[in-house]
Amino acid sequence: MHTANLLDFDLEGLAVFCERLGEKRFRAVQLFRWIHQRGQAHFHEMSDLAKSLRDKLGTVAHVAALPVLSRQDSIDGTVKWLFDVGNGDAVETVFIPEHDRGTLCISSQAGCAVGCRFCSTGHQGFSRNLTTAEIVAQLWFAEHFLRAKFQTTDRVISNVVMMGMGEPLQNYSALVPALKVMLDDHGYGLSRRRVTVSTSGVVSMMDRLASDCPVALAVSLHAPNDDLRDHLVPLNRKYPLQELLDACARYLPHAPRDFVTLEYCMLAGVNDQPHHADQLIALLRSHGGQGLSCKLNLIPFNPFPDSGLMCSDKEAVAAFAQRLLAAGLVTTVRKTRGDDIDAACGQLAGDVRDRTGASTRMQALRAQATSHVVQWVPPREVRT
Ligand code: SAH
Ligand code: SF4
Repeated sequence: MHTANLLDFDLEGLAVFCERLGEKRFRAVQLFRWIHQRGQAHFHEMSDLAKSLRDKLGTVAHVAALPVLSRQDSIDGTVKWLFDVGNGDAVETVFIPEHDRGTLCISSQAGCAVGCRFCSTGHQGFSRNLTTAEIVAQLWFAEHFLRAKFQTTDRVISNVVMMGMGEPLQNYSALVPALKVMLDDHGYGLSRRRVTVSTSGVVSMMDRLASDCPVALAVSLHAPNDDLRDHLVPLNRKYPLQELLDACARYLPHAPRDFVTLEYCMLAGVNDQPHHADQLIALLRSHGGQGLSCKLNLIPFNPFPDSGLMCSDKEAVAAFAQRLLAAGLVTTVRKTRGDDIDAACGQLAGDVRDRTGASTRMQALRAQATSHVVQWVPPREVRT
């Protein structure tokens, strides 16, 4: 018999589900806390719920994680899981520990329909949208796995970025309840500033997100003019740069931060020349008359087989960053993490077939570098 996976519900949805079973709202809160705060999947263990309710739940509902196809641990402490979502599709989730935070990078789709030139997921094509349960399951599983690993009952994941596989704003109806579970004080209690949706620029949905669930926003820019962006991010043909930047400006009054992060993947000879930096400065400074409030995040391109592209060298990235900084634009260069396990941005392909290369390489690296394994301890105080 088909029963409901309770990971599919935000608290409101769970309250409606419980009401249909003739249960009061506070039961939904109890249940929600057991599932998300305690990581409990078994109703009979939920000791403060009436036995009759536990029995009833057992017949109409379940709490199911995604089957884990593999887990890889990087020498820098990064952890990558490959989850099975059925029909030969798999998605990847990456945990990135830093000194003051633990970030989980979550997938929203199996594959992606946007087809960016420099993205391995884009090359793979689109398979299907993930359900809310499949998005939430990545966080549920990772959080409780990591708590067990670090032997703590404190929260390990302090930040979520929707920067795994897929375009989150092309899976809007599943995304929003998942974000609500992350933000809910009875769920993961993450602040809006610590949950980031990254988009290649689905303008219509940026406006809806602003009113439905305004979390931190990152926009994948990658080019300073429409000709180049049309080529790198094909969605630009539908929503060109000016429209995209206008949407960013409309989002800002609702955003939990007073800037939008603009991601810019550094591609040798393609978008990394001084004149590209100058165009970018002019574009952002002139926008709306007073300039767009933004932070630039330069991402060194992470190569993957058959991309036909190369990463800008370190000097070019530094020179590009310097030019932007000199013009007064806040600019950072993203550190590459989990390189030895292909866990970096844009390398997530969920490719079940071609895994031997990566795992052999990882084992070799591990053998060389076990003494450098990072012993990450979850920070006690999480800054908000
Ligand atoms: N679809 C969303 C979120 C997932 S991609 C988006 O495009 O924003 C997360 C970030 O990684 C995006 O900025 C994306 O452009 C970038 N990215 C994709 N492929 C990359 C690669 N090979 N190297 C570096 N960054 C890449
Ligand atoms: Fe899709 Fe983002 Fe990759 Fe573009 S960069 S193909 S939008 S996942």
